Amino acid sequence: MSRIAYVNGSYRDMRDACVNIEDRGYQFADGVYEVCEIRDGRLVDMPRHMARLQRSLSELRIAMPMPLPSLSVVMHEVVRRNRVTYGIVYLQITRGVARRDHGFPARPVPPGVVVTARSLNFAKNQATAAAGIRVATMPDNRWARVDIKSVALLPNVLAKQAARDRGAYEAWYVDGDGFVTEGASSNAWIVTRDGRAVTRPLSHRILAGITRDVVMQVLAELQIRLEERPFTPAEAKEAAEAFVTSASQIVMPVVAIDDAAIGNGEPGAVSRRLREQFHRFSVFS
Ligand code: PMP
Repeated sequence: MSRIAYVNGSYRDMRDACVNIEDRGYQFADGVYEVCEIRDGRLVDMPRHMARLQRSLSELRIAMPMPLPSLSVVMHEVVRRNRVTYGIVYLQITRGVARRDHGFPARPVPPGVVVTARSLNFAKNQATAAAGIRVATMPDNRWARVDIKSVALLPNVLAKQAARDRGAYEAWYVDGDGFVTEGASSNAWIVTRDGRAVTRPLSHRILAGITRDVVMQVLAELQIRLEERPFTPAEAKEAAEAFVTSASQIVMPVVAIDDAAIGNGEPGAVSRRLREQFHRFSVFS
């Protein structure tokens, strides 16, 4: 079955789907994106993703390309046309096409909109979660506004590859003060030996993960104490558990950080419970 993408107003076979070479997303990474999980053919936590999208767009002064309900229709339609029951839907909005010049186009141009969807292998993800992942720490060399979900992901690309080169699945960024900020494509968490879940507070230095937000609700429901504070790699290596959160991985247990095994080297009980309970707290549409 051929894959279908939505590109600037029409649904196209992926092989014929293309954008103008002067799209500012291509020239300057001048755009934003969202990734939502698809479960049972439905989109997970769309209202939260759409709220974050609107915030990213307004921080960059890019216009909303169409009303939210229309965008939602397009995203559902791309999921439907690709027959995705479990996977992700990707939405990208750029400032649009204009002659290459760093400053914004003098006369407003319509934003560029691309939506794709693809299936993920559920059994494989479950197996990865059952085994747990390794993470590798490295300096956070990103810009100072990573709260904006921009498509400018070169540092994340390099960090992820550096992690892979070191036999790890995810990178954990460490700021100049020696504290973990977040993963290259996830938020970072630990569980202390006395059972408190710890994650860094929101600021311009991390992305406000939707999964992070929902996990906080799950923690409250399970009566697990939450501490929003920075932690160091040294504290993480001594923690009972560690995990990462993202829309495509939900709660993914971490079993090693650099060369240190976490806990007994297996996914921890809190991480597993959060993963199991997560979708009870999600909104499906
Ligand atoms: N931080 C970064 C840098 C990310 O790329 C992601 C995934 N998009 C996250 C955190 C997690 O965000 P979410 O839970 O909304 O997927």
